Amino acid sequence: MTRCFPPDEPSSNPAFLCTHCGHAVPGSAPGTVHRNHCPRCLWSLHVDLKTGDRRSACRGPMEPVAIHTRTDGEWSILHRCQRCGFIRMNRIAGDDNELLLMSMAMRPLARPPFPLHRMGELAAFSEDGP
Ligand SMILES: [Zn+2]
Ligand SMILES: [Zn+2]
Repeated sequence: MTRCFPPDEPSSNPAFLCTHCGHAVPGSAPGTVHRNHCPRCLWSLHVDLKTGDRRSACRGPMEPVAIHTRTDGEWSILHRCQRCGFIRMNRIAGDDNELLLMSMAMRPLARPPFPLHRMGELAAFSEDGP
């Protein structure tokens, strides 16, 4: 049994149990108004139609899939709902798991879709000039 967020209290930030790792997540988070993901495993729940309104009926688990960097350098997490496929960007909070954030940001670099030795060849070409 999981407690539902009251739909008539969009501005309140109740504490919640993470449905992914079971962590008891405090309602307030340093650096953000709307706590929308677990700081330990970074998973979220599809509960909002618009940020913080808690009006979505889906309630599917949302997997953290990628890091997005804004022009001002601030990081956001891209969450994808496992139930309906909805994708949302959420600002990171001050107490988010930094190791997980870094490993998510590094994931594409660790698995490039082309052989790395070709990078050296390309660099040699550009040094020669046109
Ligand atoms: Zn969690
Ligand atoms: Zn969903």
